[in-house]
Amino acid sequence: MDLLNGNSVEQRNRANDYVHEVYEMVKKRNPGEKEFLQATREIFDSLRPVFLKHPEFIHNGILERITEPDRVITFRVAWEDDVGKVQVNRGFRVQFNNSIGPYKGGIRFHPTVNSSIMKFLAFEQTFKNALTGQPIGAGKGGSDFNPKGKSEREVMRFTQSFITELSKYIGPDMDVPAGDIGVGKREIGYMFGQYNRLKGGYEAGVFTGKDPNHGGSLGRKEATGYGTVYFVEEMLKQTGDSFAGKNVIVSGSGNVAIYAMEKAIECGATVLACSDSGGYIYDPNGINVETVKQIKEFTNQRIQDYLKFHKNAVYYEGCRNIWSVVCDIALPCATQNELVEEDAKLLIQNGVKAIGEGANMPCTEEAVLAFQAKGVLFGPAKAANAGGVAVSAMEMSQNSMRLSWSLEEVDEKLKQVMKNIFESCHEAAASYGSPGNLVVGANIAGFLKVADAMVAHGIH
Ligand code: GLU
Repeated sequence: MDLLNGNSVEQRNRANDYVHEVYEMVKKRNPGEKEFLQATREIFDSLRPVFLKHPEFIHNGILERITEPDRVITFRVAWEDDVGKVQVNRGFRVQFNNSIGPYKGGIRFHPTVNSSIMKFLAFEQTFKNALTGQPIGAGKGGSDFNPKGKSEREVMRFTQSFITELSKYIGPDMDVPAGDIGVGKREIGYMFGQYNRLKGGYEAGVFTGKDPNHGGSLGRKEATGYGTVYFVEEMLKQTGDSFAGKNVIVSGSGNVAIYAMEKAIECGATVLACSDSGGYIYDPNGINVETVKQIKEFTNQRIQDYLKFHKNAVYYEGCRNIWSVVCDIALPCATQNELVEEDAKLLIQNGVKAIGEGANMPCTEEAVLAFQAKGVLFGPAKAANAGGVAVSAMEMSQNSMRLSWSLEEVDEKLKQVMKNIFESCHEAAASYGSPGNLVVGANIAGFLKVADAMVAHGIH
C-alpha cells in the first residue's frame, strides 16, 4: 500500500510542516548539541509518512514530547586519586522516556561524554528498547571520567562516588542502568555493591550486566555482538545469502566487537581486521578471537600486542583506515560517527555487501545515504545492536523471578528477539512506503510503540 497516495496535498503539507517546525524547535532548544541533533534529524526524516496515517500523533504533540527528555540529571563526582589529589568529573543520567517501562540503558565512562552524546544515546534507546518488544523505557548515563591508566582502586572510588549520587534517582522499577563503553561487569559490581550499601538491602534488579555468578544473566556479555550478527544474518537471508565464506571487518575490540567476531566466525566467516583507538590489525589467516580476548578482556593491552602472538598479522596506525580493508561485510562496533562518507565510498568501491551497526550511530548520515544509494544492505544500530539491552531485560525478568536461565535458553530467546526486530523493521518499511529501508523501518516501528503508549497515558 502506498500511503502517500490517497492523501491530499494539504495533509502532506501538514505532516511536513509539523516535522519541520518541531525540528526547528528542537534545534533552538539544544544549541550546539551536534550528536543529539543528528539523531533527531534521522528519526524526523523517517517519520513523515507516519503523521499522514496518524494525525492523532500531531494532535497529541507526540514529536514535541518524545524529543524532550523526561529529565536530565547532571552532578559533580568528586573522588580522590592514588596520590591523594582530589579529582572532579561530571556525571549524567538522562531519563528520556518511560512510557513502556522503567528507564533502561547503559552507563558510559569516556572522556568524550557530554550532554549531547548522553542525549543522543538516550533518545536512540527509546526506539531501540521499544523494538525489542520488551517492557523497557529509555535512559543513558555516564561520565567524562577516563578509566584508561587508572588503578583498580581509583576506578572503584570513582564509581562509588558516581553511584552515591545516582542512587537517588534509580531503582528496579524506576531506572535500571547497565554497562556501555568503559563500563563492564567490574564497574557494575562496584555500583551494585555501593547501591545496596546505601539502601541497606539487596535489590538485584537495579542494574543489569552483573556478573552471572552474582545476579547477572548468562549470555549478557555476548548479547550485543551476537545479536548484531543474528540481525545481519536475517538481512542476508532475504537475498539468499549468509555469513558463510564471507570476509568481515569489525571495528573496535571491546565487548561488542569481540562477540560480533566470535559469532561471525562461528557462522563460517573470516574476520580479517579489528581495531582500537590507536590503529587496526590485519590478519590474513583470520583474526584469532581468543587472542583478542586475552589482550583486551583480561589484560587491557593495546590491539597492537596481537602481533606478538600472530607473526603473519600486520598493525596499521590510525583506526579509521580499517575501512580500506577489502571485505564483504563491515560491522562498525567501536563508537559514534566512526565511519564517514569517504569510508563508505571506499567500502562500496571494494565491493561491500552488508553493514551492521554494532555501536550506537557509528555511521554518519552521509555514509548511510551512500550505502543505501548503492543498494548495500544496511542494519541500523537501533535494530542491529538491540541484543544487549534485550538480554538486559531478560536479566531483569530473571532477577524478579529469582532464578537463572541457561545460556542456551538466553541465546535462543536472543535469536528470536533479533528475528522479530528484523521482521518488524522490514514490515514497517514496506507499509510506510520505503521497502527495504531498515533505517526508516526501525525508526517507524520503534516510534509507533512508544507513541501509542504516550497517547494512551495522556498529555504530560
Ligand atoms: N549500552 C547498551 C546499549 O547501548 C546496553 C544497555 C543495557 O543493557 O541496558 O544498548
